[in-house]
Amino acid sequence: MPVFGEGVHLPAFLAAVRTSLDQCNLPYELVLVDDGSPDDTWQTITVEAKSCHALRGLRLSRNFGKESALCAGLEHARGDAVIVMDADGQHPPSLIPDMVRMWQSSGADIVEAVKRRRGRESLSSKVGAQLFYFILNKLSGFHFKGASDFKLMNRKAVDAWLKMHERNVFFRGMTVWMGFTTVQIPFEVVPRSAGRSTWSVLKRLKLALIGITAFSSFPLHLVTFAGVVFLGLSVLLGLETLYLKLVGRAVSGFATVILLELIIGSLLMISLGIIGEYLARIYEEVKGRPRYIVKESIEVGGVNQDSRDSSDG
Ligand code: UDP
Ligand code: MG
Repeated sequence: MPVFGEGVHLPAFLAAVRTSLDQCNLPYELVLVDDGSPDDTWQTITVEAKSCHALRGLRLSRNFGKESALCAGLEHARGDAVIVMDADGQHPPSLIPDMVRMWQSSGADIVEAVKRRRGRESLSSKVGAQLFYFILNKLSGFHFKGASDFKLMNRKAVDAWLKMHERNVFFRGMTVWMGFTTVQIPFEVVPRSAGRSTWSVLKRLKLALIGITAFSSFPLHLVTFAGVVFLGLSVLLGLETLYLKLVGRAVSGFATVILLELIIGSLLMISLGIIGEYLARIYEEVKGRPRYIVKESIEVGGVNQDSRDSSDG
């Protein structure tokens, strides 16, 4: 569970999760990853760990973002199956027994909870998400729509997932890409129990860009395509201009020049931008920095240790 600033309602939520887990009659451990929360989340986790011996906590040295926190959780989880879920109450713990049952009965590698309907959210984020999934589907050929980060993965799937070492993590996309046998289980997104989503428009846009650039190189080909189209147009316009010049009817053509400058100028900038996006991704990958750094951790049984280790996953 990635946790960022959920201190207020974490105890109640963990109680609900444990009740659901107890119904499964399986040994379990809870891995909470505190993604550099500014509030008292870590203290809450420490306190909770005293009463729940199945709880393990990882505290990242700063806010690395949800996807990195997920990596940390997956790398540290040890079970035969791992359930990934949000800690804000939007992923109902009551679904856990069903997911586990489905995993046991169907033999699937991944049990994916899909949103029946998206929860209450603003029009812009609804439209944004639709557009994003549409583009991503067209560009990559993979179906991500309705995918959520609420999943059960068996050991095989988790190990395969951990073999992907990219820094630009897009969890749900990467699990779809792996292509294991997946069964789906629908659920209703409920409103957050408290607090508010920390995903600003900018953060969402960034994740969308990561998703698109990580799963398709089509935008790069688009640059080439636009170049070819413009080459065709410039031949036509060039011939016309030459003809008019030769017959001595060359007009002043100020408007044409301005328009051409504007169109080609913006096209060049966008093209450079697209290349820049991929370059930025390559740059981040090439640096090879760890995806997250662990500052403190709580092991099973509430043993506190200051590990200061980092993992490059
Ligand atoms: N989260 C995180 N790091 C962040 C932002 C969010 O670990 O930088 C966690 C958060 O605590 C929650 C989950 O990711 O458990 C989903 O976050 P949120 O509810 O803000 O996203 P949304 O549901 O709006 O997609
Ligand atoms: Mg949420």
